[in-house]
Amino acid sequence: MAETPETPQKPKDRCKVCKKPFISYPMGEKAGFKLIACKACGSVMVDPWITQEELDAYFGQVQPQITHLPEPDEQIETMSQRIRRVTRDAAGKSFVDVAARQGYGVKAAQAEGMKAIGLDPHDFFAKFAQEVYGPDFFKHASLQDYAASDPPKADLIFAIETFCEQSDLEGFTAGLSRLLAPGGSIYIEEADGNNFNLPRNFTDWSYVEPPLNFVYLSKKGLVALLGRHGLKIQKMFFTWKPLMRLIAVKQ
Ligand SMILES: [Zn+2]
Repeated sequence: MAETPETPQKPKDRCKVCKKPFISYPMGEKAGFKLIACKACGSVMVDPWITQEELDAYFGQVQPQITHLPEPDEQIETMSQRIRRVTRDAAGKSFVDVAARQGYGVKAAQAEGMKAIGLDPHDFFAKFAQEVYGPDFFKHASLQDYAASDPPKADLIFAIETFCEQSDLEGFTAGLSRLLAPGGSIYIEEADGNNFNLPRNFTDWSYVEPPLNFVYLSKKGLVALLGRHGLKIQKMFFTWKPLMRLIAVKQ
């Protein structure tokens, strides 16, 4: 049951991102979704929170038809640049892209000489990548399920614009930690929900597209979330865009 915007949340409520007592303020409405921000960490999210069942029902209904992005070769090269941003010594190491989408991250990792696989929780993306680039390199699986199957650990994990699509932030981040090899790195790119360059009206930001994405982490929130799973930011790359680009490692 939805609460009215003015109702202070129950005292026991905690922010899903930073886990501080949840005091929220309104951030507007988009596509019929109400958005609120956490006073403690600045992360923005839909209210009420969206469940996996609701997401499954939504994607089951829309059945997206996946096609290549424009210039796939350039997309792959951009992914290679990201890999080289993390390591100059990638050959022979293992790579998992936990939101593989069209498969460009996996193709880039293979081009860098890595043992690479891609996961995608969406069957339509997994199917596309399997058909285009080979069934052995892509799995239709959530990170949580994959990590629970005790797979080989990954030296490099890519998590690109995927926190914003997670209804289970806790399980997802636990999966990252579990999958990461000792000494390994996670490369994260994520929209920054608390960036100084965002439009005055949050909902004017074209990136905000609920229910395709529905939680926009702040840096403070991301640090807290990673920290609960034994991870920390090792390096943050500067960008003018409202985007966080960083390398996370085990604490
Ligand atoms: Zn918070």
